[in-house]
Amino acid sequence: MAGVGYFLWKDYKGKETKSHVITVPPRPNPSAKQRLEQTVMAIKEPPAPEPAKEQTKPTTKEPSKVVDEESRPLYEEHFSGKEPPPPPMPPRRKVVPPRTGEPSVAVAVVIDDLGFHAHVSKAIARLPADITLAILPYGPSSREVAEIGHKVGKEIILHQPMEPVEYPRIHPGNGAIITGMGDGEIQTIVKQNLDYFPEAVGINNHMGSRITTQVAAMDSVMKVLRTRGLFFLDSRTSQRSVAFDRALAAGIPAASRQVFIDNVQRADVILSQLNQLEKTGRQHGGAIGIGHPYPETLQALEQWLPGLAGRQIRVVRVSHFLSHNKNGSGKSP
Ligand SMILES: [Zn+2]
Repeated sequence: MAGVGYFLWKDYKGKETKSHVITVPPRPNPSAKQRLEQTVMAIKEPPAPEPAKEQTKPTTKEPSKVVDEESRPLYEEHFSGKEPPPPPMPPRRKVVPPRTGEPSVAVAVVIDDLGFHAHVSKAIARLPADITLAILPYGPSSREVAEIGHKVGKEIILHQPMEPVEYPRIHPGNGAIITGMGDGEIQTIVKQNLDYFPEAVGINNHMGSRITTQVAAMDSVMKVLRTRGLFFLDSRTSQRSVAFDRALAAGIPAASRQVFIDNVQRADVILSQLNQLEKTGRQHGGAIGIGHPYPETLQALEQWLPGLAGRQIRVVRVSHFLSHNKNGSGKSP
């Protein structure tokens, strides 16, 4: 069958990655592909991966279907905070559980929207854990956060602005891709944004509840990622997003967000979402959570991180959870 997908496993080795303690290379970045390849190569592939299957539907209750439910954005940065957090998304791929003797369950924590709130952004970049930094282009502290994160060995990805369903009332910011742009224009924008972050080993979408549902636009993005050897993380701001599937179809390593951790900006609620991330990770052999540079999120992370080892949880980079469609046949299971 076309398309074999699985989560890749390895022991946590982020601290040993010497390539992250180097000075910023000149732009455009010639070594991003190499760094990603090193990361991917370092991941020990599990023996005889099974053909990927869609996860069965979660047994927890699903939101009742209403007309146009799927077009509603699941989360974007203008979220009011008045509604309860959405249910976690089940992982898209069957995962391989850790072998006996391997400690703990891996979860990834991605902090989006970095580069605009300098104080919190820099504090998050310095957190003593392998948190993935998703940085918006052209923010007042975007470069500084990238350089701090790179120096301390954090994984850095471009947080690519994309059109939400509320556009133009809500604008995703500079360097955004918008419906109606042609293939060449989208590729140029993504390339320029990537040139701003030579440290980046992948991208994820900022907003994007409209344009991530459009195959042609996503295919244009994936062409750039393929050329540069980068991965794609689907933030899943729409249930109808095709971005993850288009990435795999293009032969690009991809992953998908399961839990938003700070839709409600209260430290106690964020802590409960981090517990949900742990629970999802235990159930599925790993999970990816996305948060934002709110002071409450920083506070919750500072409380949550020290107790992880005691609960046999470890924070890993997003690149530990990449699925592959090695033949790039255009079909994912
Ligand atoms: Zn964002």
